[in-house]
Amino acid sequence: MIPFTKPTVTGQEQAYITQAINGSHLSGDGPFTKKCHQWFEEKLGCQKALLTPSCTAALEMAAILIDIQPGDEVIMPSYTFVSTANAFVLRGATIVFVDIHPDTMNIDETLIEAAITSKTKAIVPVHYAGVACQMDTIMDIAERHGLFVIEDAAQAMMSTFEGRPLGTIGHIGTYSFHATKNYTSGGEGGLLIINDEQFSVRAEFIRDKGTNRKQFFRGSVDKYTWVDIGSSFLPSELQGAYLYSQLELAEDINIRRRDLWNKYYSLIKSSPLSTFVGLPEVPKYCVHNAHMFQIKLSSETERSKLIKYLKNFEIESAFHYIPLHSSNFGKQKTKFVGADIYTTSESEKLLRLPMYDSLTHSEVSSVVKAIEGFFNV
Ligand SMILES: *Cc1c(COP(=O)(O)O)cnc(C)c1O
Repeated sequence: MIPFTKPTVTGQEQAYITQAINGSHLSGDGPFTKKCHQWFEEKLGCQKALLTPSCTAALEMAAILIDIQPGDEVIMPSYTFVSTANAFVLRGATIVFVDIHPDTMNIDETLIEAAITSKTKAIVPVHYAGVACQMDTIMDIAERHGLFVIEDAAQAMMSTFEGRPLGTIGHIGTYSFHATKNYTSGGEGGLLIINDEQFSVRAEFIRDKGTNRKQFFRGSVDKYTWVDIGSSFLPSELQGAYLYSQLELAEDINIRRRDLWNKYYSLIKSSPLSTFVGLPEVPKYCVHNAHMFQIKLSSETERSKLIKYLKNFEIESAFHYIPLHSSNFGKQKTKFVGADIYTTSESEKLLRLPMYDSLTHSEVSSVVKAIEGFFNV
């Protein structure tokens, strides 16, 4: 059985978790969490990096930080995870979708400007599969219209746009450490990346239930009080311990994944299969993290047949997002500006193949062979 995904495990997790249990600080912002913050702040060169219970939570914090009010509009692709939209809907925003590029499945930056109104507050590019959106154009549009850019980089840790880490280009960025992502903090977890200094102080208040407790622990105030809205956005120290073991090996994990991705790519490219299936595209401006390996079939029907066929060979594969504007709930909270030329049609053809840290070359070969069998080539 080749599963579709398996959480990354380094082998060092248990030792660090035991250390955290034996230590005196098990709640949020203990020694391992601080090490993670430091690692990210150095690696990313951001103003502040804060672990959160999930990327969803980090997105919700971002919506509070940029002060989303009822009626504000937020532009994003419809081909994304629900949390990208929900975080802003929770604060009363209307979500405005524009179409995507068919090759990368990322927001088509040339369609953003036509969707901007006097109510627009932010643009939320989603770096699908860890492949960068055209961030220069997006930042330029945002600057000209006075908008915030929140990067949903949930899948994009270790990826870059023209050498700059994804999540560090917009005003705020977010990562996910869910079990299905390249790095995990034990199944659930996320990161809030602050790139604009104006959000640094408030991010700490919001994360700690709307209090200035962090300043109190640092000794910069003599008691902590209620200073803002907020919630419980601190993960447990156990999650920090789990994640830190993976950060220490982040580069090794990245190299291994990219090697597996390249193996898939070269096997399919050099096979007669390449006339039947579309391969993923990575623009020149991006170095990606091999978060997923996806192919495109000619139709949804063909995709369903292939999923079934692979299952008989004990190979799991998976389709992905159902565009948010097509759901009943989505219809009430969102509008799609411009034509949906690619969002729906391309999402129906996309299939994700097994991709995880402990996958082997021979398993990649078996998957490609099985797909060749399906197409009789
Ligand atoms: C995984 C993912 C999320 C949510 O991450 P959680 O950590 O599970 O909350 C949000 N956006 C995108 C694009 C994702 O892939």
